Amino acid sequence: MNKIIQLKDVKKYYPWKNKKFVKAVDGTSISVNKGDIFGLVGESGSGKTTLGRIMLRLIEPTSGSVFFEDREITKDKKINKSIRKKMQIVFQDPYASLHPRRKIKDIIGSGLKTHNMVKSEHEMIEKVENFLNLVGMGREHLYRYSYELSGGQRQRVAIARALILNPEFVVLDEPTSSLDVSVQAEILNLLMELKKKLNLTYIFITHDLILARIFTEKIAIMYLGKIMEYGETMSVFNKPLHPYTEALFSIIPRIDAKDRSKKIILSGEIPSPVDPPTGCRFHTRCVRKLGAICENSTPVLKEIEDNHFVACHLYT
Ligand code: SF4
Repeated sequence: MNKIIQLKDVKKYYPWKNKKFVKAVDGTSISVNKGDIFGLVGESGSGKTTLGRIMLRLIEPTSGSVFFEDREITKDKKINKSIRKKMQIVFQDPYASLHPRRKIKDIIGSGLKTHNMVKSEHEMIEKVENFLNLVGMGREHLYRYSYELSGGQRQRVAIARALILNPEFVVLDEPTSSLDVSVQAEILNLLMELKKKLNLTYIFITHDLILARIFTEKIAIMYLGKIMEYGETMSVFNKPLHPYTEALFSIIPRIDAKDRSKKIILSGEIPSPVDPPTGCRFHTRCVRKLGAICENSTPVLKEIEDNHFVACHLYT
């Protein structure tokens, strides 16, 4: 399988008070194959959004390497324009991500000018119209402003803006979380169609486990800046190995009574990323903690089953 993105031991620390640091991402390695829909799942503060932005180099990592295809993009002083074009993002909030004083044609088309992909305004408008059609909107929207559109239409515009540059890799940062449930389904179906049509690879960032289950093919479960478990989505959902994943999955509502396993209620709050627990980051809340080894030694990700990795001393 061809890898499109690889992260090697990536860290992102933000300076904090008293010479301390917020450890938003703390030593993450991951590979994403071309054509994957890869979910990054976790509670707020788990580091999933920071990791998604590091992949695009919208945020510079403190250390570690990021490869796009075979090129280490963290070695370049500035990201190469042709690579930037191949990596795009759709933000969570379509209300905030679209400029309120720009017409839709300019919001979607400005990247074409920046990357010299069109020779005239006429050519730009033609391309924008094609991409509006691709996301299920018509030319009547070309001269409107974003505040004249519904939430779903705005997110369609945001998707068209990302795709008009012909990217190969798109980070979807909670793309449906600010939308009504019925609109969420439409946008996810659209994203799925576009993925097939345009041969895309997605990173799907979400805190919603049900969405992760239906939309992704692989997932990584993050907690306090580290990946706790990752693998094929169905394998992780059918047989979660890490106690944190087990606890998260145990609270998903289920219709079939046979599927209702006992709920695992995690005690306490997620600890501060300024002073994360030593050893296993999850030990302060883990119901299966083994003792000193969990408090003192950091478990590393190990392949426990075929393409199913877990970082937990229960498996060492
Ligand atoms: Fe629980 Fe220990 Fe596994 Fe961490 S390493 S999840 S504390 S059993």
